[in-house]
Amino acid sequence: MPESLVAIASLGGTITMTAADGPRGLTPSLTARDLTASVPELAHVADIRAETLFSKPGASLGFGDLLQALDWSRRAVADGADGVVLVQGTDTLEETGYFLDLHWDRPEPLVVTGAMRPPRQPGADGPANLLAAVLTATAARSRGLGVLTVLNDEVHAAARVRKYDTTALDAFASRPFGPLARIHERSVRYAALPLRQPPVPPPRDGGHPRVALLETFFGDDGELLRLALGAHFDGIVISAFGAGHVSAAMASVVSEAVEKAPVVLASRTGSGSVLSDTYGFTGSEQDLLRRGAVSAGWLDARKARLLLWSLLAAGEPEDRIRAEFAARADGTSPTAR
Ligand code: ASP
Repeated sequence: MPESLVAIASLGGTITMTAADGPRGLTPSLTARDLTASVPELAHVADIRAETLFSKPGASLGFGDLLQALDWSRRAVADGADGVVLVQGTDTLEETGYFLDLHWDRPEPLVVTGAMRPPRQPGADGPANLLAAVLTATAARSRGLGVLTVLNDEVHAAARVRKYDTTALDAFASRPFGPLARIHERSVRYAALPLRQPPVPPPRDGGHPRVALLETFFGDDGELLRLALGAHFDGIVISAFGAGHVSAAMASVVSEAVEKAPVVLASRTGSGSVLSDTYGFTGSEQDLLRRGAVSAGWLDARKARLLLWSLLAAGEPEDRIRAEFAARADGTSPTAR
């Protein structure tokens, strides 16, 4: 008899997708119960409670859906679950996992997973990922680690992982630090532990800030940033060149932007940290930080946007936003509240 109880909720994604008759392609159709029924091994690992929360592609999930999934997960652990697994589309998993991690305030593991291949395709990875996710959710070492992203027999910190490939089974990676654990012979072997930060405060009622994410590009003179200023976003994240650089022309638009809303500086490279005291040209990281931009540090632009959204939604003032970014972007010291 398994000693653990795991609650599994499905939000949709390729792992649930089958093709209807005709040329219409894959759409979400399987329920959470269909998924668990397809992996009989789960019964040896844990008692399972399964529920379908949404049947959406990852691209159509929104903040409201994630806040609902968080409530569902909190209720599941209050009702006795030792861990929770959320199944969803991989297209947005790197963002949803981090958002959930920012808000997850329980020691029980919250594990997110999905699949790169649909269930009817030979070599479908959904069943293996679901089993690995449940093993991770029941592992004693997973407690207190926040949200964990499990695919391809690897456990990643949701705060670090990114999707790097459109179809490969090993699409998810945590560069440059690597995964936290590997799963083999049904055991979860941790080799590293994440530096977990305290959860951010919950959104205030009606707190739905508009936060833009703009990637700079060769020849960018800041015109799109200027257009975004005209649209009155509550916050702006710039996915900048290399270690946090934009053109000299764009740098002056950054000066205008910081007068209107918090501007966060991240790198478009997908790995490594924004620098803080290396380059000195106009548009360099030092120049932009001096103009008032907030460094995303080790957080990539997508994750930085979710942190900024969460802090704005909670009504945090500018000094708290700077302090939270300083702590979380560095990732080495817990934030004092
Ligand atoms: N390709 C996606 C997936 O892997 C589709 C989605 O995100 O819903 O699940």
